[in-house]
Amino acid sequence: MRYYIPILLFLIQTAAFGQITNSQDNLAYTGPIIDMHLHAFHADAIGPPPIPFCVPASTSIQHFDPRVDYMEVVVENSKNPSCNDLFWSPKTDEELIRQTINQLEKYNAIGVLSGEVELLSTWTKAAPDRFIPSLEFNLGTGEIPVDSLKTILRTQNIKVFGEIGNQYYGIAPNDPRMDKYWELAVELDIPVAIHLGSGPPGAPYMGTPNYRVKFSNPLQLEEVLVKYPKLRMSVMHYGEPFIDEMIAMMYTYPQLYIDLGGIMWTYPKAYFYEYHLKKLVAAGYSKRIMFGSDSMTWPGLIGMSIDIINEAPFLSLEEKEDIFYNNAARFLRFSEEQIAADHNRKQ
Ligand SMILES: [Zn+2]
Repeated sequence: MRYYIPILLFLIQTAAFGQITNSQDNLAYTGPIIDMHLHAFHADAIGPPPIPFCVPASTSIQHFDPRVDYMEVVVENSKNPSCNDLFWSPKTDEELIRQTINQLEKYNAIGVLSGEVELLSTWTKAAPDRFIPSLEFNLGTGEIPVDSLKTILRTQNIKVFGEIGNQYYGIAPNDPRMDKYWELAVELDIPVAIHLGSGPPGAPYMGTPNYRVKFSNPLQLEEVLVKYPKLRMSVMHYGEPFIDEMIAMMYTYPQLYIDLGGIMWTYPKAYFYEYHLKKLVAAGYSKRIMFGSDSMTWPGLIGMSIDIINEAPFLSLEEKEDIFYNNAARFLRFSEEQIAADHNRKQ
């Protein structure tokens, strides 16, 4: 959810991906996939569509002279996008939903879909077997009474509580106002997913003035996990780029999961491989890393995100099976029937 951008177009300018290629003996994973990080957005959620999006996002604004207004630079870039990997967002809600479902079908995937109740209903009706409803939430737009939230979670078939986007509102991961919601999640035994990590480049200058980098640090979750040991938590975007801190947290709190949340296209692939994914796997955490595309309003990012993980030359087939499916199925506590159905599904 590098998304709470009531405005537009952050973007772009090129960027060639790194030169790491798939080795001959690097077996591709072809089984079912769970995408832990989808959003039920309106087509104009990030700005008037169609909006161009170039990856990797870290190179979208390569340098910036502050005598110019930042938004002017962003808008100018979006008028003439030029890059190797350019995506355009669909123009209508219907098209966004259709293209998302097409991507999920093409890659034999289902997705945890984060959104507001009404939009979740529209999206899941279009493909009930493809989406797992997840309720998005943040304290920044007002606290919902616990009883009301409890009713929504129980009656709307909500399976995950997230994406929790407090960071975009300058609210720390351990803010005490979250206590009553953590308690509710434990009571209902519902998994939670919280955003920790980068927003779009220049986030505080373009629609989320209270976004702060410092709240990406996973160490700030420590008191929450100590206080609520029964909480089933996933850190979305794995608190990037605070990899060492995330590894320290995963070591001490073996119940803590992470999702990859689009970071495979946020940075150049070579950097993501070498300094993020390879490091997390080398540290021993391939059983708690979950795939996530964070495709927002660009469904093509789903396939690209899957390909980047599948092409990682250092991952074994077993590690890919875990990252693409097994870890999320365990975190979400899928039944044996659900797991069997996923493996028997014909794309
Ligand atoms: Zn996010």
